[in-house]
Amino acid sequence: MTEVRTTCPYCGVGCGVIAKPAASGGWSVHGDPSHPANLGRLCSKGSALAETLGLEDRLLTPRVGGAPTGWNAALDLVASRFRDAIDQHGPDSVGFYVSGQLLTEDYYVANKLMKGFIGSANIDTNSRLCMSSSVAGHKRAFGTDTVPGQYMDLEEADLVVLVGSNLAWCHPVLYQRIVAAKKARPFMKVVNIDPRRTATCDIADLHLQIAPAGDVALFNGLLAWIAEKGAVDAAYVARHVEGFEVALSAARSEDLSVTGLPPQLLREFFDLWVRTEKTVTVFSQGVNQSSSGTDKVNAILNCHLATGRIGRPGMGPFSVTGQPNAMGGREVGGLANMLACHLDLENSEHRAAVRDFWNAPAIPSVPGLKAVDMFRAAGEGGIKALWIIHTNPAVSMPEADAVCTAIEACEFVVVSDVTAATDTARRADVVLPAMAWGEKDGTVTNSERCISRQRPFATAPDGPRADWRILCDVAGRLGWAAQFDYDGPAEIFREYAALSGIAGRFGRDFDISGLVDLSTAEYDALAPTVWPLTTVRAGGRFFADGGFFTESGRGQMLPLKRRGPAADTTAAFPFRFNTGRVRDHWHTMTRTAKSPRLSQHMGEPYLEIHPEDAAVLGLQPATIAEVTSPLGRALLRVVTTDRVRPGEVFAPMHWTSESASQARIDALVPSEVDPISGQPESKAAAVSVAPF
Ligand code: SF4
Repeated sequence: MTEVRTTCPYCGVGCGVIAKPAASGGWSVHGDPSHPANLGRLCSKGSALAETLGLEDRLLTPRVGGAPTGWNAALDLVASRFRDAIDQHGPDSVGFYVSGQLLTEDYYVANKLMKGFIGSANIDTNSRLCMSSSVAGHKRAFGTDTVPGQYMDLEEADLVVLVGSNLAWCHPVLYQRIVAAKKARPFMKVVNIDPRRTATCDIADLHLQIAPAGDVALFNGLLAWIAEKGAVDAAYVARHVEGFEVALSAARSEDLSVTGLPPQLLREFFDLWVRTEKTVTVFSQGVNQSSSGTDKVNAILNCHLATGRIGRPGMGPFSVTGQPNAMGGREVGGLANMLACHLDLENSEHRAAVRDFWNAPAIPSVPGLKAVDMFRAAGEGGIKALWIIHTNPAVSMPEADAVCTAIEACEFVVVSDVTAATDTARRADVVLPAMAWGEKDGTVTNSERCISRQRPFATAPDGPRADWRILCDVAGRLGWAAQFDYDGPAEIFREYAALSGIAGRFGRDFDISGLVDLSTAEYDALAPTVWPLTTVRAGGRFFADGGFFTESGRGQMLPLKRRGPAADTTAAFPFRFNTGRVRDHWHTMTRTAKSPRLSQHMGEPYLEIHPEDAAVLGLQPATIAEVTSPLGRALLRVVTTDRVRPGEVFAPMHWTSESASQARIDALVPSEVDPISGQPESKAAAVSVAPF
């Protein structure tokens, strides 16, 4: 084997990488100059991928009750326990909690098994914690979950507004692309809207250090300013948009003082936005992870719809996703309230079409349990059998201690993962070894709708199986062998592409029916491809000329009012607790912790606190702080810094019981969710801080 083109398994930028055998043995990994997402660039995490391929901590055989077991016995047990639960308590007594780490083909099979054959919509994903508010906001405004633009828009824009996004650390190659564009076009401006002064501020012409939950008010203020300054695109609104007047009326009544920003700074931002036609607004977890996340998304979309700055070069709202295949999961219907291919669970014609296509007994007509509710149900006995795939909810879910208790209380829990050394796998009844990056074979979709191949290059050790195969093995044992008889990911992809053609005939945006006839060799060689891809359309932007997927065909502006955060700070819990990521670690570190180089950047869990607050509390830098919420506590190294505002503290989310005792910070975060998207508010808990 000489070299293999594949895709980075970390963030939603979706960079192409080339893996080659290294002269010293093992592999070397470099950026793929031909991949449109990164054009050869990689960040620190992508550059260190070759260091993470070792078999340390790797799960190689199924385990039942902690004991190594053969595949057949383990799969028989999984199928029989799921069958028992379904027969005795109905299909809604079981659930799948899956992951944006899954490849599209794996995701498709999981969704088909749960929604088409088990007959429940109880499949949700850790993408619920990441970007489900963007999905809900897109659907409200556009009628589907469509990202209108492409990465090149970030380089063609004259103004890039980053909202709740530390792009420099969390989507580093996109950040590098903006840095390069700004250098080439020095008149380009960048505004960073974030309660913290992050590394992304290094390229910001303006930093709006906004108060928590101030985003709806800020963008309502912008909408009112747009109208006042005559910057509404009246022709676009008249032809393509509904709801302008009610949205503007609500915006005009907004109290901008809740943004915590001085009026002069607000005016500076508003003026810049109004006079710069080529504007892209990038938003990420700081917007989504909120009890008003969907409204925040729509407040941003309102401004782009009012000005017609959408779907044209260098213009548009742009959701960037956290995970490598968060978009693919959305496309296959991996969320509890969606059908495959952007078809709607609540639409009887859509359900009938999917049922007939799958030759399935029935499709559920009501949404299943979203992530927070699924674990609550597992703890209370409503979910009898739960299958957790490639994610570590015992660390990453809000109220993580309660999630641990729920996993332990659930009658039967299966985990599929590459390692059993996680807080979740340790609590499972059955652990199934799955293939890892470098062994897996399939596709992922990045934040700009680009489908890329993830190709195997390393020889998988004996034992682990592909996720789609594990799911099919269980489906066969449940009695649906014929409907899950795939000979490989190419066949699954062809079926998925064919289903998307049905979605296209219903007028949905997600249509890749142009790929339905791919031979297996063509699938293997598939170049990065932006959807839609049909016989009449290949890629491109959406909505420059309207064409929204709503019933009326018009984009929807919504009247919005600032809400939240859900948790009040009190005398006992006076600090607002913000959570996030560091540059060189990923999720709960099952891969990145293998690279000593990556752990050099931030080697231990920490708490950012303003020096004034630290002084009042008697906290010295580099000592240990005890951080407490009504739900739990964590011990974190003190970093005094004015990157955070007084009254606010920040901690990264990566550390686990395995990697650092008492630093699972999501144990402190309440399960408050956005009422529309179900996305938890991960950035606004109320905590106390004290010397330990
Ligand atoms: Fe991987 Fe994201 Fe870094 Fe690209 S930017 S190399 S996809 S982690």
